[in-house]
Amino acid sequence: QSEKTSVGSKKKTLLILGTGWGAISLLKDLDTSLYNVIVVSPRNYFLFTPLLPSVPTGTIDLKSIVDPVRTIARLTPGEVQYLEAEATDIDTKNKKVTVKHTSQSITPGIVQTTPDDIRKTLDYDYLVIAVGAETNTFNTPGVKEYASYLKEASDAVEVRAKLMQNIEAAQLLPLGSEERNRLMTFTVVGGGPTGVELAAEVKDYIDQDLSKLFPGIEKETTVHLIEALPNVLNSFNKKLIAYSEYVFKKININLSVNTMVQKVDNKNVYAKVKQPNGEFKEIVLPYGVLVWATGNGPRQLIKDLSTQIDAQKTARRGLLVDEFLKLEGTDGVFALGDCTFTKHPPTAQVAHQQGIYLSKLFETMAKVENFEYKIAQEDASPDRDTNKIDRLQRRINRTKQNLVPFVYTHMGALAYVGSERAVADLVWGDWSQISTGGPLTFLFWRTAYVAMCLSIKNKVLICSDWVKISIFGRDCSKE
Ligand code: FAD
Ligand code: NAD
Repeated sequence: QSEKTSVGSKKKTLLILGTGWGAISLLKDLDTSLYNVIVVSPRNYFLFTPLLPSVPTGTIDLKSIVDPVRTIARLTPGEVQYLEAEATDIDTKNKKVTVKHTSQSITPGIVQTTPDDIRKTLDYDYLVIAVGAETNTFNTPGVKEYASYLKEASDAVEVRAKLMQNIEAAQLLPLGSEERNRLMTFTVVGGGPTGVELAAEVKDYIDQDLSKLFPGIEKETTVHLIEALPNVLNSFNKKLIAYSEYVFKKININLSVNTMVQKVDNKNVYAKVKQPNGEFKEIVLPYGVLVWATGNGPRQLIKDLSTQIDAQKTARRGLLVDEFLKLEGTDGVFALGDCTFTKHPPTAQVAHQQGIYLSKLFETMAKVENFEYKIAQEDASPDRDTNKIDRLQRRINRTKQNLVPFVYTHMGALAYVGSERAVADLVWGDWSQISTGGPLTFLFWRTAYVAMCLSIKNKVLICSDWVKISIFGRDCSKE
């Protein structure tokens, strides 16, 4: 029998929270026959976030960037149980997680019976927390009530619905009227990669497709990007920041930097602009659609957990883990991705590498436990063989050499900036860095994102979406 199948009498239970980049990279790479694997997440699919900004405009169909977790689980070597629920409480002392399934009303306006919330408590031997983060509103008044986000699949659908609704509604109002202009203003707050890519995609959509269906719309519509710092894309190098801002100017994206949004109501954003003399000026900017993309903040589950563990009390921006991604101050708990606070940026690239790292770590741990189980059996045997025990102990020592800390390999960063141009800060090995922007980089951007996709089905669907829009253009249906 192979080492893999001869694991001790009782497999340990590995509970994974989340179905995002971290969790799915772990699940896909893990020999799931080594553990009783349970995956819990309110989202029953993996979402390929790098192309989420292309969804509100219809450049990419939502279905092309989702992959059902049950399909992923079916393709792993062992049995994986998936539960559609969110973890509401983690008890690291007793190794238990409480989960809750909330049924959603499927068709708005149609009366239907939905089951009550279902709660369940799950025991674990090992727990992996990969619940990601939520958009940080910084408690800015009005944001929760009036803004959309761009984090989940449903956000992309909501942004599209609002965009198309406003454009259609505006057609009923006199050209040039204040209300028509407001409805035709698409505002994004936050000039990180999410905000930049969304603003770029929406501007492309208006210029390349909506302009054919609503003649003159490209002159009437404003795409407005608001950033608190002096530049957008602050994690990119200066040359690429300048290039992105040049493209924005060229394609008429209205960029307001040094502008900190402080309040939002149903029609306006209220911001403070830093003047060149250092003084601040208050301004009011009307909007039709508002998307809030100001970065990550921890989820309530993570905030609650960090207050329960002494070693996590100082964790304000995410869970603290050691170099093996083990949650500080706990036993058998690991965390990865955007729900942690480490020296690495909160990106898919990091979560993906951490997921693969953890799969190797769990495989090594299963091997060690298997040898320990055999030693215990031998110890209890009436014909106890000391040589066999020594041999097994040596194998444990050798296997444990594979338990090495996580090392992140940064491949670089890419962002779409509009008009078929992208910027790329690439790292080749540890000796060279290339910063490039332009149409060729755009082709590279597309190739790199397809390569980054975790499933062949998604790769094929994404490419076919690009072909489809190059032939037929993007449509303007509200769906
Ligand atoms: P996520 O992928 O967010 O997954 C979290 C999972 O946990 C989800 O399945 C969620 O449903 C689940 N969950 C939430 N709450 C609970 C709970 N209570 N119990 C159980 N499960 C729960 N990074 C890049 O490197 N390159 C890019 O091009 C890029 N583009 C991006 C574009 C957009 C629009 C966005 C929003 C992000 C982008 N990122 C990109 C960042 C990247 O998506 C994140 O860093 C990555 O998703 C983090 O992975 P994660 O597994 O930690 O969290
Ligand atoms: P971010 O944290 O990168 O950027 C948020 C921006 O919002 C910051 O520049 C901040 O100054 C600004 N901001 C905050 N509060 C503001 C306010 N009140 N008014 C105006 N501006 C305000 O956030 P993101 O773009 O959502 O990215 C989150 C993570 O996901 C990052 O690590 C990013 O690298 C990653 N990501 C990567 C890509 C890519 O590689 N193409 C795409 C999207 C996201």
